[in-house]
Amino acid sequence: MSEPTRMSNRLLEVKNVRKVFGRGGIGRQHETIALDDFSLTLYDDEPKITAIAGESGSGKTTLARLILDFIKPTSGEILWRGRNIHKMSKKELMSYRHECQAVFQDPYAAFNPFYRVDHLFHMAVTEFKLARRKADEARIIGDALEVVGLRPGEILGKYPHQLSGGQRQRLIVARAFLLKPRLIVADEPVSMIDASLRAMILDIMLKLKDDFGISFLYITHDLSTAYQISDRIFILYEGTVSETGDATRVIGNPQHPYTQLLIGSVPNPDPALKWSEDIEVSAEEELGKGDKAGCKFYSRCPHAMEECHQSPPRLYEVGEDGHYASCFLYKGSG
Ligand code: SF4
Repeated sequence: MSEPTRMSNRLLEVKNVRKVFGRGGIGRQHETIALDDFSLTLYDDEPKITAIAGESGSGKTTLARLILDFIKPTSGEILWRGRNIHKMSKKELMSYRHECQAVFQDPYAAFNPFYRVDHLFHMAVTEFKLARRKADEARIIGDALEVVGLRPGEILGKYPHQLSGGQRQRLIVARAFLLKPRLIVADEPVSMIDASLRAMILDIMLKLKDDFGISFLYITHDLSTAYQISDRIFILYEGTVSETGDATRVIGNPQHPYTQLLIGSVPNPDPALKWSEDIEVSAEEELGKGDKAGCKFYSRCPHAMEECHQSPPRLYEVGEDGHYASCFLYKGSG
């Protein structure tokens, strides 16, 4: 797959990253390839919401953990403004953690139940030296809360258990926004909250992108929300990209048999549908069950051919604007 060739303003580059877990066992049967040959590039001057969609075990959370520097790749590299994040100095890492923030699935887990929620913000202000005076700290915290639709007077001074799940998740987004990051890695940020609050969080993500130029990596199992808010999407299947491209084209006109299977339950994604229903990626496959030598989707594919069993397909161009699918059906197309 050819990535954009523009060199300037590269914010994040994930280059041919592979992550293998379980090395050190007897033989290679103990290895699990969680992510294989994954690449993407984000630009600082083109804020985008990029969805990484897949079922449990598809590698999407592994990718998030690699980018957040929780784990290291087995091969390949992750560059931030041209610097390998796993080879950064302490100072560079601090700056990276300032610019690249995370929002996780469970908003409650981010809080210490013994502290008022103010503590989370105060810690961020102190750690990243965001304000010298108390008045400045109060102002920037208040501004961040208002951006996510919370009133400081109603929220500050409370303990986490005194707030709703939606308020807590908005607080976590506000805490990330406080640092004025360039990228937020949002790992299933709306999967634990109900539909009305989900819409609110997704609208906030769009606002942060449009008004403040913040990019998102939106890790999700839910194609309906990915369709609604994402500019680009990567569909992962057992650690490999099965299809990628403009989110509207991929979900509206899927080319890979796996994506077609996923979309099959919702033939006409309705742009007017405001993420009221989940279109969930099936969880019936377990990681590592795919064909070892050939295409990982071989055993489930209605179009499987002899050659699919012999070697894995590369990504072939299947449409405009960087639309690719890893499937031999498109071998002649580029
Ligand atoms: Fe199906 Fe073959 Fe395409 Fe894999 S490469 S999705 S088995 S047709």
